[in-house]
Amino acid sequence: LDFNELNIADPILKGIEQMGFEKPTPVQVQCIPPLLEEKDVVGQAQTGTGKTAAFGIPVVQKTDLDIANVQTIIMCPTRELAIQVTGELIKIGKHLDGLNVIPIYGGQSISRQIKALKRGAHIVVGTPGRTIDHLRRGTMKLNDLKRVVFDEADEMLNMGFRDDMEQILSYSDQPVQTIMFSATMSKGIRKIMNRYMNNPQTIRI
Ligand code: AMP
Repeated sequence: LDFNELNIADPILKGIEQMGFEKPTPVQVQCIPPLLEEKDVVGQAQTGTGKTAAFGIPVVQKTDLDIANVQTIIMCPTRELAIQVTGELIKIGKHLDGLNVIPIYGGQSISRQIKALKRGAHIVVGTPGRTIDHLRRGTMKLNDLKRVVFDEADEMLNMGFRDDMEQILSYSDQPVQTIMFSATMSKGIRKIMNRYMNNPQTIRI
């Protein structure tokens, strides 16, 4: 199977090609179609499998560039991962005019992040504490939130971020597509699936 058989828009195919990706990896083949159909997905996949693009391609493609508001929150356990994921999404969306992806993490100036949010971020890639901080301050509005991705969800649970993860899912008043990637299927992961996800499709690599 090729990328051009997965209903990926032309400008995104161009970005993927420039990243040097020739063929989709198994996790990409399995995750991209249900994610483009806005289904809830739990992907059990390790780092190195191409999981970032597996959610990154659909998330970028589903972004409405005419709405200058946060449509996707991607939660990551560490700032390093948040920065890395932001970089990959920017590359995927390189040929989309005006796509705005920003990282939000602790230790970086909050006023700088507030300015970046005000300029109209479509996709926020954040660590849990700082993301919740912006929600509490009202500096990140979720009126247009369509989807939430938890990357390395098991790591976030191990680090004690359960409440933050659940808060993100409870903050929005409309139902959102919920996407979770995890190396393991722990009890904690299952609990979030059962409580917050709508008929999730499980994909195991
Ligand atoms: P990840 O599992 O998302 O951390 O990705 C691992 C590495 O594989 C990253 O350096 C990606 O840029 C790269 N990668 C992701 N998808 C593909 C692909 N379809 N073909 C070649 N490399 C890829």
